[in-house]
Amino acid sequence: MELKSAAEIEAMREAGRVVARALAAVRAQAAVGVRLVELDQTARSVLAEAGATSPFLGYQPSFADLPFPAVICASVNDAALHGIPTRYKLADGDLLSVDCGATLHGWTGDAAISFTVGTPRPADVALIEAAEKALAAGIAAAVPGGRLGDISAAIGAVARAAGYGLHTDFGGHGVGHTMHESPSVPNDGKPGRGLKLAAGLVIAIEPWFMAGGRDSYRLDDDGWTLRSGDGSRAAHVEHTVAITADGPRILTAL
Ligand code: MG
Ligand code: MG
Repeated sequence: MELKSAAEIEAMREAGRVVARALAAVRAQAAVGVRLVELDQTARSVLAEAGATSPFLGYQPSFADLPFPAVICASVNDAALHGIPTRYKLADGDLLSVDCGATLHGWTGDAAISFTVGTPRPADVALIEAAEKALAAGIAAAVPGGRLGDISAAIGAVARAAGYGLHTDFGGHGVGHTMHESPSVPNDGKPGRGLKLAAGLVIAIEPWFMAGGRDSYRLDDDGWTLRSGDGSRAAHVEHTVAITADGPRILTAL
């Protein structure tokens, strides 16, 4: 686990800004009838114009049979994470989660947003708001002297209070020169436990909740797309955050 200097955090902020711009462009474009591959093309353009590369494209962790083929993950409805942008056309009322990363001058940012397309279902709006509330609570706990478990517990408490399902697989993680570094930041845990948080630690915090209230998930045959086990809708939001003496600093905000 590596602590970053103030100058390194500034450099990571520039990478994070590229991620924020890509996500904003995708969100602005997403509408009924737009294909997921078109959203990926938009994100590719934003990264290319910034001189950034994608830590997603070609990524192949041990669980995946195939390298990831895109620069965004586009997860629709019951898909929570790692959806491959296909030629699927967005339909009225879809819940879309988009995850994007960028590497600029050797530093990486990683963030995700969830939103509805067309006419929103109230239940989807509530699910997204809960995930965003959990992200904010996790970020608020990312302070020097705190513990990693404080972040995890803050996220888990929001999901449990709302009756949503969650899983500690595929949670947050350290971020630096590469996308996935130590420590891992699970989406549930006990306060006061785990690694002591220090200024200079940069982590991605990324709650993903499942509306049905069950904690299980399943993987598609494509080896990537992770869906809720009960078929209920899911939402995923993420920021890369630097822990500083002045408190948490969101590096992937616009
Ligand atoms: Mg991500
Ligand atoms: Mg991440």
